[in-house]
Amino acid sequence: MTTANLSQVVKVLETLYPLRYAEEWDEPGLIVGDPFAPIRKIYCAVDPTEAIVEEALEWGADLLVTHHPLFFRSVHSVSGMGFRGEIVNKLVHGHCGLWVGHTNADAAHRGVSEALADGLGLVEQTPLVPIDDPNSKYPVGLGRVGNLPRAMSLEALAHSVADLVPPTERGIDVAGDLSMQVTRVAVLGGSGDSVFDEVRASHADVYVTSDLRHHPVLDARQQALREAQLRIADDAADERAAAAVAWPAFINTPHYASEKVWFTYALEDIPAACFQQYGAMPEMKLSPTNTDPFTAHLGPSLD
Ligand SMILES: [Zn+2]
Repeated sequence: MTTANLSQVVKVLETLYPLRYAEEWDEPGLIVGDPFAPIRKIYCAVDPTEAIVEEALEWGADLLVTHHPLFFRSVHSVSGMGFRGEIVNKLVHGHCGLWVGHTNADAAHRGVSEALADGLGLVEQTPLVPIDDPNSKYPVGLGRVGNLPRAMSLEALAHSVADLVPPTERGIDVAGDLSMQVTRVAVLGGSGDSVFDEVRASHADVYVTSDLRHHPVLDARQQALREAQLRIADDAADERAAAAVAWPAFINTPHYASEKVWFTYALEDIPAACFQQYGAMPEMKLSPTNTDPFTAHLGPSLD
């Protein structure tokens, strides 16, 4: 079997996860690597930490594909005095490239949010924030909203989410009545509080995302409740319609956990596309390491 080089593999990656889908502030793509290097083994992980890079090198990876960027801001040094520079040094000395699929992979077909939506069995999916791409056969964009094949309790959905994402010390949090019936579900892998307006406009019963904070959630729920009360005051007969505009319930997962679900697709799609394009099938491996920075969950609870 032939072997693809790094520039060929990058072409495959950027066809699956086009860089033009990335948010304006984001700079995904190839971060480290020799374009002519042969790529036989690709290691995958959510975060490019030093420990993950060591795992990749130990396995003999030629390329590390991560979801999170190594650099968020402009860089003036890659010396080993800082951990990011040391990661670059380790990759270069280990002859391993680094390619990042961040917000471009969030938005893509079979990307982060679609993997979550499919994992929960949502049908009739549409993006929460669509991107217009005439070249894509599939709807693409940030987040997904879709319907469960049949209504279930918020509690049952929360268990489905917990079964879908990799285990973490923190588990998942729920905001809402566990017995409420839910059908319409919005999802966004990673930090999701920037699209509350789109979630509300999508008429989702529940929003599954990560990194939700006290004030945005509390405020959104209070405002929705107030709007529902005003609607009831407007038309007492319309109580049901008023209830339907209330803010959805929330299921909040650790950030690392919601995004790792993407790799169930990436591990299938990247070698298949390399084979189709170049007749080369690199070996893929997903890191088993949990990179959620929170390592314990304890303290008093109401029970
Ligand atoms: Zn993320």
